[in-house]
Amino acid sequence: MLYNSTRNSSASVSSAQAIVKGISEEGGLFVPESFPQISLDDLKEISGKSYVERAEFVLGKFLTDFTPEELHHCVSNAYRADKFSSESIAELAHLYKGIYMLELWHGPTCAFKDMALQLLPYLLTTSAKKVLSDKEIAILVATSGDTGKAALEGFKDVEGTKILVFYPEDGVSNIQKLQMTTQQGGNVGVCAIKGNFDDAQTGVKKIFTDKAVGEKLAEHGIVFSSANSINWGRLVPQIVYYFSAYCDLLANGEIEAGDKINVVVPTGNFGNILSAYYANLMGLPVNKFICASNANNVLTDFIATGVYDRNRPFHTTISPSMDILISSNLERLIYDLTGRDDKAVRSLFDQLSKEGRYEVSKEVKEKIQSMFYGGCCDDTQTKQTIKEIFDQYSYLCDTHTAVAVKVYEEYRAKTGDVTKTVIASTASPYKFTGSVLEALGGNTAADDFAQIEELSELSKLEAPAQLANLKNCEVRFTKSIDKDGMEQAVFEALGL
Ligand SMILES: *Cc1c(COP(=O)(O)O)cnc(C)c1O
Repeated sequence: MLYNSTRNSSASVSSAQAIVKGISEEGGLFVPESFPQISLDDLKEISGKSYVERAEFVLGKFLTDFTPEELHHCVSNAYRADKFSSESIAELAHLYKGIYMLELWHGPTCAFKDMALQLLPYLLTTSAKKVLSDKEIAILVATSGDTGKAALEGFKDVEGTKILVFYPEDGVSNIQKLQMTTQQGGNVGVCAIKGNFDDAQTGVKKIFTDKAVGEKLAEHGIVFSSANSINWGRLVPQIVYYFSAYCDLLANGEIEAGDKINVVVPTGNFGNILSAYYANLMGLPVNKFICASNANNVLTDFIATGVYDRNRPFHTTISPSMDILISSNLERLIYDLTGRDDKAVRSLFDQLSKEGRYEVSKEVKEKIQSMFYGGCCDDTQTKQTIKEIFDQYSYLCDTHTAVAVKVYEEYRAKTGDVTKTVIASTASPYKFTGSVLEALGGNTAADDFAQIEELSELSKLEAPAQLANLKNCEVRFTKSIDKDGMEQAVFEALGL
């Protein structure tokens, strides 16, 4: 299996190269040259197996330059029982008749990013052994909250790597900040910057592409790599859990092999929902992809009109991991739907960077509309949904997942479609305790840990120990720097 770039179809690299490079030279994203098929018989067979076995089966179709032993090493270490609080890893819970919640937050940091970021360090170090000789890998991350912690937890004490995370000083929740500043591990660093997430991201990109910095690193045998969601190594692990959810439905007799399901995803950078689409290209029977957005509804408009336009106000919402106006992974969908037309993709994304806007052809728009439904809701509706779902079904969901539930309900009311449906549940409600408590009418005046206790009394759902225990963890990282000081901070962290 080789990988092409969305902006250069003739680029052709192995999966190890795609994972180490992260992004193609001309700025395109790596995509598999074709989609390996998984048959209904395969699905029946793996439905009797564990998550790790299912993952090895699906990943083996793509990572053909990994030996089965290497793959087993990566997958079995990533999804170890001591790291995930659910035996099934990606747990499928029943919400109401024919509606299931795919809980992707039973990992160490309580958000779905763990599903990929627990595996990525293993994929990256295994890849590096194949394509880089004896180099140390430095991972730089700019985060708005969830990615930073998940990356730190994934890379902590991974031999041959160092990781440094930049977060906006006033742009993350208290719990998110504590999760990062108390991070354990001998190879980790965390640094606040006086600026917003965009400043952090721009700074990281600048350091990545700075020639002089690159040369200085090379002298010391270090290369940069990225852990953000455009890396193929973060996307491919996400394909697995859609197959796994289908297998669980098969195993429980909820569906027959071949029955189609709907998939609903609370979406930001379009990585999670794209993984579901890729699973479908590989043979997963899907009826509709339902793309749910918060007030930053650029994707809702795109699916309705074929026009992607980021020239609009940016809203800070209670589902911050979806506060995004440039959904990077959409590029991969468009590449596929234009019949892998790299020239068309280059032109569209040139327009996006110059004018903040592009329009796809009528043909592409119609294809998108035949498969995708887009919807959005605001913070008030999100909170109402958390309360309704809790009152009616005794199910507590976080703010991101609530957006998905709300948009699904709207879809179902509009279309009357009663196809069995899997809703991606992307974070533990305890990660956003304040907003969830507010939705349920609780006392939000208390501090974070009192809120956690109150939510747990109210919901009878146990708080994840790793969040409740933050109270007792020592803060290790207190540095806060100007955004101009990022390069210096990188040098210091790497001991240069
Ligand atoms: C990152 C994130 C999302 C958005 O996922 P994308 O793959 O970027 O679309 C949704 N919910 C939560 C909790 C997240 O952390």
